[in-house]
Amino acid sequence: MAERVALVTGGTGGIGTVICRELADKGMKVAANYLEGIDDGPAWQAAQKADGYDFTVVAGDVSDFDSSVAMVKAVEDQLGPVDVLVNCAGITKDATIKKMQKEQWYDVINVNLNSVFNVTKQVATGMADRGWGRIINISSVNGQKGQFGQVNYSAAKAGMHGFTMALAQEVARKGVTVNTISPGYIATQMVLAIPEKVRDSIVAQVPAGRLAEPSEIAWAVSFIADDRSGFMTGANLAINGGLHMGP
Ligand code: NAD
Repeated sequence: MAERVALVTGGTGGIGTVICRELADKGMKVAANYLEGIDDGPAWQAAQKADGYDFTVVAGDVSDFDSSVAMVKAVEDQLGPVDVLVNCAGITKDATIKKMQKEQWYDVINVNLNSVFNVTKQVATGMADRGWGRIINISSVNGQKGQFGQVNYSAAKAGMHGFTMALAQEVARKGVTVNTISPGYIATQMVLAIPEKVRDSIVAQVPAGRLAEPSEIAWAVSFIADDRSGFMTGANLAINGGLHMGP
């Protein structure tokens, strides 16, 4: 079987990097998407290479449809059709609704939710035509339970799972699965930058009593991307140390 091709949006970020490594360890050819001007794709690529990982990097703004078209085409030109898509790019712009500006709402919806359409649209039909594919949407526990100061982020992340469940039905007979992962708080730069006192109060609410390691999310991505996970579709995997438990 030819090596499978994986595309990870926001692939040079804290969680994205570990997902890229996990999928490479699984024997896939991996492309990491990054946002030019914010992320330094080539420097990241060189640092990964020094650690023995040979990744393709592709610039592109996933909140923009045309940019996503060009980004996916660049991956396909270099590696071939995408078999595994991980929608991992995301941002937060927190504020209570009283203070939230229109831009904070639209930016977070565009980057976290509209991006999922922009990128998935480019690969889902091809996966179905070839009879195999994995689409994995990285949402958040805050999309499941809501979070004070995050109407934009919680709405976008909840919307991702609606997308997952609808598309899962469209492509289920074609060997393509669509699933959501909803992580709790993870020990990435973003969370480690929160003042220690605030971080401690977050951790105190987590039954497991700690933050997750990015590898604990990447492992779930690897599991979903596996051939043996073909019957699991439309699911929402909660990986949150017990912070939120659903039926
Ligand atoms: P991160 O900031 O390290 O990574 C996100 C990456 O996405 C960054 O490299 C960023 O530049 C990129 N990005 C932002 N806008 C983009 C755009 N328009 N086009 C392309 N790339 C863009 O954050 P992370 O902690 O690695 O988060 C990864 C995903 O996991 C996000 O979707 C986030 O919402 C989700 N998540 C994170 C946590 C956590 O505790 N860190 C918890 C739950 C969910």
